[in-house]
Amino acid sequence: MKIHEYQSRQLLAEAGVPVPPAEVVDSAAAAGEAHRRIGGRVVVKAQVFAGGRGKAGFVKLCDNPQETQAAAAFMLANRMVSPQTGPAGVAVGRLLVARAVDVVAEFYLGMVIDRVRRCPVVMVSREGGVEIEEVAARRPEAIIKEWLHPLLGLQPFQVRRLAAALGLNAPDRFRDCAAALTGLADVFLRHEASLAEINPLVLTADGRVLALDAKLNFDDNALFRHPEILALHDESEENPDERRARAAGLSYIALDGNIGCVVNGAGLAMATMDLIKLHGGRPANFLDVGGSVTAEGAVEAFRIILADPKVRGVLVNIFGGIAKCDLIAEALIAAAREVGFSVPVVVRLEGTNVQRARRLLEEARVPGLLTATDLTDAASKVCAAV
Ligand code: GDP
Ligand code: MN
Repeated sequence: MKIHEYQSRQLLAEAGVPVPPAEVVDSAAAAGEAHRRIGGRVVVKAQVFAGGRGKAGFVKLCDNPQETQAAAAFMLANRMVSPQTGPAGVAVGRLLVARAVDVVAEFYLGMVIDRVRRCPVVMVSREGGVEIEEVAARRPEAIIKEWLHPLLGLQPFQVRRLAAALGLNAPDRFRDCAAALTGLADVFLRHEASLAEINPLVLTADGRVLALDAKLNFDDNALFRHPEILALHDESEENPDERRARAAGLSYIALDGNIGCVVNGAGLAMATMDLIKLHGGRPANFLDVGGSVTAEGAVEAFRIILADPKVRGVLVNIFGGIAKCDLIAEALIAAAREVGFSVPVVVRLEGTNVQRARRLLEEARVPGLLTATDLTDAASKVCAAV
């Protein structure tokens, strides 16, 4: 689960991470008033989950309340488009107005779980501000890592090493840098985050070390232990189709291709997407209907996929185990009756109750439905049809 920057910075500030004073607003007038209270120069920042706000013009330095009000009006009235949003962009409902600081240097601090070493890892870099993926690809040696003992957490000697790697070990700077590192690790471990990032952590002209941006993602499987984090959930930032799918008990991720996929099992879904790619197509979604799918859940899956205007064809690939082939066939027929298949639907069924499923589909004579004998046949048929 993702949360907003202002929520992340609040959690980090409570854990002792130094941040500039700021207010959250949802109107241009309120942004101007916030500027008057904060004083000096401010930075107005769109509160959306997608990154790349700086380059998209949705992080703006403003010298006076009039400028702040204009910048806020622009951000609230326009959708933000960045490499992380796709061409449609995202709407902006809230803004953070923070006191601006004079930046001398930008650093990166981040924390994730290292799945190979099976422990949390803290990463820092002097090349902050830009996306860390870029640094990792270009100059991996510029990222310094400390792996944490799962029970002992971030140790003082590691804090000293990381601060030294950033050149922030002089006594006056070390205190703030250590507070940022310790606070980040504290929030990450206490709330079972999957990602915690401060990018950039900055050194200011007056020698302070401050977190200017904050990003936290949480492990969905641990959220039941953290009602205080779950309470921060913002539904409006989710893809509406993904929300609908989750309500129906489906694992659905929207992608940007044009072949809709209805599959059971995450592994089979990945293999199906690979096969589509291999045959020159592009999947429009990842969809695992799961083992315990109901007829209604399966129909909902077809509704979601067929409502996507990008979808030019659908591949149904079911290996009937716990989810039975005949239930999927019935769902297909029901979906065809309800919404109609405006695009070709290629079906490959195998496994439990497959005979009954084939019979049902034959008898129903669903227009637009093509059957396939195996996975390769299914993938090539749907790619050819699209
Ligand atoms: P992101 O682009 O979505 O990651 O948004 P950030 O919050 O990281 O802001 C982008 C960039 O804006 C930062 O890397 C800084 O270079 C700049 N920035 C943000 N706040 C300030 C500030 O108070 N003063 C100055 N000079 N630059 C800032
Ligand atoms: Mn940033």
